[in-house]
Amino acid sequence: MTTPRVAVIGGGLAGLAAAGALCGLGVTPFVFERDDDVGGVVRTRQRDGWVIDTGPCLAAEPDVAVRAMLDRAGLDQCTVRAMPAAATRYIVLDGAPVPLPRTTSELSASPLLSLAGRLRLLKERFIPAEREATDESVDSFARRRFGDEMADRMFDPLIASTSAGDPRQIVARYAFPSLVGHEHRAGSGLQGSARAGMAARRRAKGPPMGSWSCAAGMQQLPRRLAGWIGRVRTGARVDAVAATSTGVAVSVSGDSESFDAVVFATPTSALGRIHIDLPEAHRLREVTSMPQASIASVSLGYRRDQVAHPLDCSRLLVPAVERRAILSVVFPSSAFPGRAPHDHVLLTTFVGGARRPELLDRSEPELIALVQAELAELLGAEGAPVMSDVTIWKDALPQAVAGHGDRLAAADAIEAACGRIAFAGAWRDGLSVGEVMLGGMRAAERLAQRFGRRPVSSST
Ligand SMILES: Cc1cc2nc3c(=O)[nH]c(=O)nc-3n(C[C@H](O)[C@H](O)[C@H](O)COP(=O)(O)OP(=O)(O)OC[C@H]3O[C@@H](n4cnc5c(N)ncnc54)[C@H](O)[C@@H]3O)c2cc1C
Repeated sequence: MTTPRVAVIGGGLAGLAAAGALCGLGVTPFVFERDDDVGGVVRTRQRDGWVIDTGPCLAAEPDVAVRAMLDRAGLDQCTVRAMPAAATRYIVLDGAPVPLPRTTSELSASPLLSLAGRLRLLKERFIPAEREATDESVDSFARRRFGDEMADRMFDPLIASTSAGDPRQIVARYAFPSLVGHEHRAGSGLQGSARAGMAARRRAKGPPMGSWSCAAGMQQLPRRLAGWIGRVRTGARVDAVAATSTGVAVSVSGDSESFDAVVFATPTSALGRIHIDLPEAHRLREVTSMPQASIASVSLGYRRDQVAHPLDCSRLLVPAVERRAILSVVFPSSAFPGRAPHDHVLLTTFVGGARRPELLDRSEPELIALVQAELAELLGAEGAPVMSDVTIWKDALPQAVAGHGDRLAAADAIEAACGRIAFAGAWRDGLSVGEVMLGGMRAAERLAQRFGRRPVSSST
């Protein structure tokens, strides 16, 4: 049997994880990436001793399968685990950062909730459970189960810092699948989470990896994956994909090549720009109607003595009720060594999203001034930053709003009708680095099954 050849469109994490998994399944992947470098929104700039991640700055504990791929690709050599300070997150309360509680007992001792708010939280287990999967928003779910203070103080800033979305629009079962699942199964989000946490700790085989990144910045991850995979072409935009009698024809910068199958691993906006002639392709309009949020990443560098706050944390969350201009701040130099020159700190602030989209019309100097003023008030950052870097990410964060399930079902229907394609990416599998990589690997498995391929012992 000849080795199937699969085109992977998109050299972001979804596409590279799909290609890596295909190698281990006895299928030969060919990755086509439109840009001059791999990584998609995973970008690192290095200058004058600063290591600036303009997209993701850190990833959460990876799934076992993702971790195995990182090891096979030799990434264990360059991954760095977050320093202990990174386990702490802060949240703005009445204009000042306070530690974000990690457990319900920390929550009961935290100033974040009033006495009434804590009592309301304790009532959660007695709230009648919804057992059906619906498009209930995060805001409605949080208010119904945990009370208004939890909705405003916890759920809202968590959504802002992960998807930059509006909690009144984002569907709870996609944003917090396990919490909603616990309500359906155990009748209580809190009790279900506590039981699941204990079970996970019993199942765990080794010490957790925790939050992580790469020594040279997050873009080392896609670059290392691409080097391991081999057949990755950058500067190669796919313009058209069409079914043929023997497989799929892929047009790359005007030249057509034949493959046995295709993984689409682009954002939905890019998907809409590819001419696709496949069974059920008219349903792609449903997929490409998925809304996207835009966000600015504003990285400012300061001398350590300019900032009063201890910076003993990885992130600062900002609830909308605080009426500030920013969504959240990440502290890369507190989480990982080597992100800033000696005696300096790096603070990356996110602005815009669904909460304040109008701020993205501002110029770079205006955005820097706005963030500088916010950091002065919140963290005691005095004077002008010694380094600044702004990246605007247009339509970079897919929003799982009402109708999301129908959009995913349309993608499933196209996959099923064609039989030779699979979709992967943040819009389909979840936003985080780990979810996107796992989704790419699952897409590879769906396609490999079509060719009767099973995992091979991989030393690719
Ligand atoms: C600002 C920001 C901060 C984030 N922070 C975090 C974080 O701290 N932690 C975390 O876990 N997650 C974070 N995320 C989320 C996570 O980084 C993304 O969800 C994930 O990297 C998306 O990967 P992807 O492969 O689905 O898409 P992309 O990264 O968008 O990759 C798609 C690729 O397809 C290519 N492409 C498009 N069209 C074509 C074409 N026609 N032909 C060939 N190639 C094409 C693009 O050039 C791109 O390289 C963040 C996201 C953003 C935007």
